[in-house]
Amino acid sequence: MFIDTHTHLFVEAFNDDREEVVRRAIDSGVEICLLPNIDVDTIEAMHALSERFPSNCHPMMGLHPGSVKEDWEERIEVIRQHLFSRPYIAVGEIGMDLYWDKTFIEAQREVFRMQVQWAKELNLPIAIHAREAFQEIYEVLDELNDDSLTGVFHCFTGTTEDAAKILDYGGFKLGLGGVLTYKSAKLHRSLVNVPLEAIVLETDAPYLSPTPHRGKRNESSYLLHVAEKLADIYERPLFEIEEQTTINAKELFKMGT
Ligand SMILES: [Zn+2]
Repeated sequence: MFIDTHTHLFVEAFNDDREEVVRRAIDSGVEICLLPNIDVDTIEAMHALSERFPSNCHPMMGLHPGSVKEDWEERIEVIRQHLFSRPYIAVGEIGMDLYWDKTFIEAQREVFRMQVQWAKELNLPIAIHAREAFQEIYEVLDELNDDSLTGVFHCFTGTTEDAAKILDYGGFKLGLGGVLTYKSAKLHRSLVNVPLEAIVLETDAPYLSPTPHRGKRNESSYLLHVAEKLADIYERPLFEIEEQTTINAKELFKMGT
């Protein structure tokens, strides 16, 4: 059994065939899908999907850095109320993204810091989105990290040094997805000192489709392409990749065994 630790199956891109997409994932062995929230207006669809597939689809709650705009104070208050009113598998996705826009850098930092603190209060792992913002995120984690804080750097695309720094925090894993399969990415070079025990798999569907589906809509059943690439890189049979990454995900997201 595989676990897709980061998949947005509740977004509009799946409105026409959501059920089939989830069933295809389950049929291909991806039995558990973790759903990171994006914004206030995605919550309802995310909850609906997790209620339709209660043993397969588990929601997170958080405000994505791309959703931090002028009215961020109202948005984060809605997120906070949800987070403290029902169980979620994690606080996510949260973080900082300075790739598109630096206008809200201070608000992004503040919103990220707030959500890390809530995760600590609730004893939940965090799913971090870091794009052109590793240093900014490290500053917050250097300040707030402790024995209780755990999480994943989703869609990890950093360097060998980034990988070392992240694993040094103690409670963090690297989320690997479609980018690993891109010839141009050279991401495998950053993994030379990363043990398999520190890796979880993800698709980030509908984005970042792995080869050979690159450029098309991504879906959770494509997780197997990422797993196969990881098997190549680590020179291990696919079943060991399956076993170990599932153990890692269950441990991080406290899913029991
Ligand atoms: Zn995402």
